[in-house]
Amino acid sequence: MIPFAGAMSSLKTLEQYANPLLSTDAMPVFFFGHGSPINAIEENEFSKEWQRIGQAMPKPNAILCISAHWLTRGTFVTAMEQPKTIHDFGGFPQQLFDVQYPAPGSPKLAKNTADLLGDVHAGLDEEWGLDHGCWSVVKHLYPDADVPVIQLSIDFYKPASFHYSLAKQLASLRRKGILIIGSGNMVHNLRMVAWDKMEVDGFAFDWATEANEQMKKYIVARAHQPLIDYQKQGKAFDLAIPSPDHYYPMLYALGLQEKGEDISFFNDKAVMGSLTMTSFRIGKG
Ligand code: ZN
Repeated sequence: MIPFAGAMSSLKTLEQYANPLLSTDAMPVFFFGHGSPINAIEENEFSKEWQRIGQAMPKPNAILCISAHWLTRGTFVTAMEQPKTIHDFGGFPQQLFDVQYPAPGSPKLAKNTADLLGDVHAGLDEEWGLDHGCWSVVKHLYPDADVPVIQLSIDFYKPASFHYSLAKQLASLRRKGILIIGSGNMVHNLRMVAWDKMEVDGFAFDWATEANEQMKKYIVARAHQPLIDYQKQGKAFDLAIPSPDHYYPMLYALGLQEKGEDISFFNDKAVMGSLTMTSFRIGKG
């Protein structure tokens, strides 16, 4: 038995070497709370954690990112060879507008992804690029921009259940060395930012803490249905999710959780009262 297993094992290694898109151990899945675009250029507790994660993980073949900042009618996948860096924000220092993140795209992965989505008919996009929901985090994970990155858009005309289910169709990519990332914020209410408490470390309104803690409880219990039904969860959730753009990326991450896979939280902290940076990792790797 042992020589046979050994032969199989080295055959597998050889195949993987010859074709990196062949099956590998499942890559982890991440949900990143990205917060302010300034995190892209600041060395702070959040960005340092992103750097640590990038260094600790085997380098993926490519990254597929679902960002809160690419909302579309219909579903699209970026399919260009070289995505541009999109500076989709205002009122920040020039230094942030000067950032370029020149990671290549992957037309092949874009096509594979669209194929997996079947009936949804994802369009291959040549116009978008990488928005800050994606590059502000990925820049810290892979500062050399040497991992291809594609984005999957969020069809903002579809309900939460659609996004959760759509994610499940991407599951096989995890065994092809693809790192799937959702980037948003679990609690995200920009109208209620406590500008007068900006300097108070970790300040959170009570409703923000309540919603964040309840979301974590559901996540730990693998109770995904109440998270999909976020509009039925009461006042704290209503305030935490005034619009689901930053929330949906989390549902994509949860949709990819397989049976028996653990979740670990990081950057679990509020900023400016009405946002949480709470993030999680699904699986090992
Ligand atoms: Zn954002």
